Amino acid sequence: MKFGFSLNTSRTIDLDKLDKKKQESFTDDIPTFKRCFACGGCAATCSAQQHTDFNVLKCNLLFRRGEFETLEKELEKCMLCGKCTLVCPRNVNTRAMIIKMRRTLNTKTNL
Ligand code: SF4
Ligand code: SF4
Repeated sequence: MKFGFSLNTSRTIDLDKLDKKKQESFTDDIPTFKRCFACGGCAATCSAQQHTDFNVLKCNLLFRRGEFETLEKELEKCMLCGKCTLVCPRNVNTRAMIIKMRRTLNTKTNL
């Protein structure tokens, strides 16, 4: 059946084909990651977001989707100030989450 439109293949992610090794140990090290209910509080208060197009929630999504190349560039914008961690209503350790993502992707951690 033709609908007159189709999926844009360059934006299609086949989750069944993802190599999930990098994500597997993540919640073991940062268990609070599971508590996030995507309220956006961290992104709204983020120091880096006030000066760039950085979005900490987008980082979570990119990580879950395995879009590591884009994520690596995004993570560099985080200043590790920890403000996001202070405002999270679910006590997600967002700062540790960013550091762990950087370590997982072998990018610089500044720590
Ligand atoms: S503030 Fe906490 S619960 Fe809300 S989106 Fe950020 S990490 Fe998730
Ligand atoms: S630690 Fe990073 S993500 Fe959190 S508020 Fe600071 S700059 Fe934003």
